[in-house]
Amino acid sequence: MCQLCDSVAAPASRRRFLKFAGAAAAGLALPSEGFAQKAPPKPSNTVSPDGALNLLMNGNRRYVGGVTKRHDFKNEREALSKGQNPYVGILSCADSRIAPEYAFDSARGDLFVCRVAGNFLNDDGIASFEYAVAVLNTPLLMVLGHKACGAIDATIKSIKDGTTLPGHLPSLVSALAPAVKAVANQPGDTLDNAIRQNVLLNVEKLKAATPIIDKAVAEKKVRVVGGVYNLDNGRVELLS
Ligand SMILES: [Zn+2]
Repeated sequence: MCQLCDSVAAPASRRRFLKFAGAAAAGLALPSEGFAQKAPPKPSNTVSPDGALNLLMNGNRRYVGGVTKRHDFKNEREALSKGQNPYVGILSCADSRIAPEYAFDSARGDLFVCRVAGNFLNDDGIASFEYAVAVLNTPLLMVLGHKACGAIDATIKSIKDGTTLPGHLPSLVSALAPAVKAVANQPGDTLDNAIRQNVLLNVEKLKAATPIIDKAVAEKKVRVVGGVYNLDNGRVELLS
């Protein structure tokens, strides 16, 4: 059971979560420190936003260079059974070729990952990152797009051809359409441009998400960045 789910079941954590939910619903200030976990299970993850970005990109450099760490999952399980303090929240595409934990050579308890085809934010995604920021004290958020994104490519074709995709896909198209339309007259590769634009739009949406994340960003407790994963070599290019 995840900590968020567990917080609904366990009385002490339930009070903490309800306080968080109540504060958010009431538009109150970011919860105080007493509201967060007492003892983070991974002290090395208690870092500044810039420190978190260094950890993340160093992990990507190890991944690209083929010198990833050996992770001890057995001992990690016990250390993380009572809590979590991930140093970054990542919004990633669902594409099977993108694996944030691998791409940043990270262990369990390091990355708080939400995934959806096309890596765009809806209210549930924002709520998830609000939980990471307000309760888990996560100092860094990243929107991670990737080259050759099929969801964005399908959106480009749907808009260009005026076709309506089957099933629930039109919902995805409407979520990605703002990025596609914004780059319609830009020179260069339309798909590459739309992928980058979609990352930048969602970075701005996350930064502006009231009442929790925008306040944390203004107070410099949280940094929001965008990146694009290159399928060929595994390198993540920072956009912001
Ligand atoms: Zn994709």
